[in-house]
Amino acid sequence: MDTTERETIAAYEGPDSRRLLARLRDVMAGGGSGQDRLNEIVGLIAGEMRADVCSCYVMRAGEVLELFATQGLNQSAVHKTRLRVGEGIVGEIAAHARAMALEDAPSHPSFAYRPETGEDPFQSMAGVPILRGGKVRGVLVLQHKERRHYAEELVETLQTIAMVVAELVAAGELVNAQEISNQGDPVLLPARLSGVALNPGLAMGVAVVHRPQVTIRQMIAEDEGKEQERLSEALTAMHSAIDDLLAAAALAGLGEPRDILETYRMFAEDRGWLSRIREAIRMGLTAEAAVQQVQNDTRVRMSHLTDPYIRERLLDLDDLTNRLLLHLAGKKSEADGATLPDDLVLVARSLGPAELLDYDQRRLRGVIVEEGSPSSHVCIVARALDIPVVQVSDALNRIEAGDPLIVDGDHATIFVRPAEDIQDAFTQSMDLRARREEMYAQTRSLPSVTRDGVPISIQLNCGLLIDLPHLHASGAEGIGLYRTEIPFMVRSTYPEVDVQTDLYARIMDEAGERPVIFRTLDVGGDKMLPYMSSGEEENPSLGWRAIRIGLDHPSLLRQQLRALLCAAAGRPLSVMFPMVAEVAELEAARNILNLELERLVEHGREPPSTLRVGAMIEVPSLLFQLPALLPRVDFVSVGSNDLTQYVFAADRGNPRTANRYDPLSPPMMCLLRRLVEACSEANVSLSLCGEMAGRPLDAMALIGMGFRSLSMAPPSVGPVKTMLRSLDVAALRQYMQGLFQRPDHSLRPKLKAFAKDHGVLI
Ligand code: PEP
Ligand code: MG
Repeated sequence: MDTTERETIAAYEGPDSRRLLARLRDVMAGGGSGQDRLNEIVGLIAGEMRADVCSCYVMRAGEVLELFATQGLNQSAVHKTRLRVGEGIVGEIAAHARAMALEDAPSHPSFAYRPETGEDPFQSMAGVPILRGGKVRGVLVLQHKERRHYAEELVETLQTIAMVVAELVAAGELVNAQEISNQGDPVLLPARLSGVALNPGLAMGVAVVHRPQVTIRQMIAEDEGKEQERLSEALTAMHSAIDDLLAAAALAGLGEPRDILETYRMFAEDRGWLSRIREAIRMGLTAEAAVQQVQNDTRVRMSHLTDPYIRERLLDLDDLTNRLLLHLAGKKSEADGATLPDDLVLVARSLGPAELLDYDQRRLRGVIVEEGSPSSHVCIVARALDIPVVQVSDALNRIEAGDPLIVDGDHATIFVRPAEDIQDAFTQSMDLRARREEMYAQTRSLPSVTRDGVPISIQLNCGLLIDLPHLHASGAEGIGLYRTEIPFMVRSTYPEVDVQTDLYARIMDEAGERPVIFRTLDVGGDKMLPYMSSGEEENPSLGWRAIRIGLDHPSLLRQQLRALLCAAAGRPLSVMFPMVAEVAELEAARNILNLELERLVEHGREPPSTLRVGAMIEVPSLLFQLPALLPRVDFVSVGSNDLTQYVFAADRGNPRTANRYDPLSPPMMCLLRRLVEACSEANVSLSLCGEMAGRPLDAMALIGMGFRSLSMAPPSVGPVKTMLRSLDVAALRQYMQGLFQRPDHSLRPKLKAFAKDHGVLI
């Protein structure tokens, strides 16, 4: 658009929001039917906002938006014009729960012309979703004949008004309550719903629907000062309640999930969030309405962002909003109810870590959320509690409170109101699982030695302090991979050296005598830090990640190494560098480590008692430099997740390619066997810490190839140890001789047959 054209577009001058809200309050408090009041409201908005049209569409059953009231369009279209969700601009706003402001609406690809409304002359259009209880209940629209640019403040004002209209819709005066609650709801038959597994495990229980229980009765404030004061009081009460909760979580033996909960508390004290709430009160809203408005606004602004970190922080904000609303209403959380069932499955749109901890952990069996990802905070906490979590997008529409539920976190499925035969089958699976768990628990104290006497070292993969209690409980020898990037990912700023030192020292304290291998920051690819921008990359997993970032930003690597050296102080330290593609990179990283060690000694600090340096074998090029690499390292560890993706050129994050090739196939097995031989000749310790180490059959094959150390996630220790204690390595070695040269896509079936024939418990 050129400047002359821009100048002809009249910039929109915002309305007097306070006056508009005060007048809306009068209308809402006045008599008349819901329809009368809605007619009055659209007239009022059109007048105050100097719009040619103000229309309100309300969601009906079957996901249809019906024109319910208008000022400016043909009155004969009211209750006749209907749009499906996703149809036209109004449908688009509802589909994405996102505001739209268009200078030139008719040229927008979604524009759907409806002749009966008489909307031909209107050029510009701004619309916002009418949200209530996290669902879209309708759409509020302004239109102008002339072309206009809508300022952001105007859209915000419209969102505030939409909250008032949402009250009218929810009151059941426009569309009856039954229709509202049944929107999109099928009949109460048993249902099997597929979703995404966020945490494995099986659970049965009764649905407890977790929703904010607070109904906002008054939207518009009578006394601003009083509302600001109520907000301050509620904030103080909320902060102290969160502190109590965190203390209780620590006491309950949840380890110290500080990484997670500190971030959460940081949000509670976030100035931007609080000042937006205060500003909304200044505009004339009550404290409750202001809190809700800021939340709606944040959701709408961020709903199109796909960045997992931001989406997870949104869930934390939801949690805080609900908490603050409860404090404002002087209510206790619904989790306090003594009437909750003994076996409860929590169903929620989203859930924050603190909300999960509100529920009695002795009764909590499973969690179903509509939004969430495996790395969300609530999942990390659920993992520590060993509770299965499945994400199902329309769970709240399909599940009623009190419904019997089965959560199958192993197969990403839930069963709602399951038939008796399904319940019986699951009861059996759960019994079997419990018996197996018991058997694994018994192997904990038994030596990790094969049937023919070969010792195998089992190590753990960890990434948070919350994981450490598993180290002692699992009977693992040490931590073979500590992914240091996870604590970096849950923070909003890069942690200072002393914060890192404190964290690493606590990990070493918790591990005690057991050795820990710290992997330096492995970010980039699918693991971005919120405060570090790498720009768009076409092939992120081939891009700027891990040691490449550390070498390009040596200060980051230096700070991390400094923190590790300080934390070790007189104790052994093992450092491992990820994604090393050539020996020169390892040398460069090692030089930085040496510099930091010298610096430490110069400052009179105690150095580690021993310092071991290792490289991850993840990039195939390094396999061609083993003679130069091995004399320069104390140990190497195969990152088979990345190595497999690079060997087969198959993206591990893409569902179409992730499982296309099998690591138990001739190319990978030949390569791993050669690595075993090279390490054994050079006398360098070798381990493998990718996911395959934790799968019993894969672990069996690795042992057959000569691996004597495997590092895995805590739940895999029992199954792998059970497998190896039943394995005769000599027989397996002999059997595998004939496999390496075969042309098969996968050797899995042959290895499975061996296990079956030789009584190996896989
Ligand atoms: C691997 O690539 O196998 C590995 C252990 O590292 P990450 O999964 O963290 O990339
Ligand atoms: Mg890796």
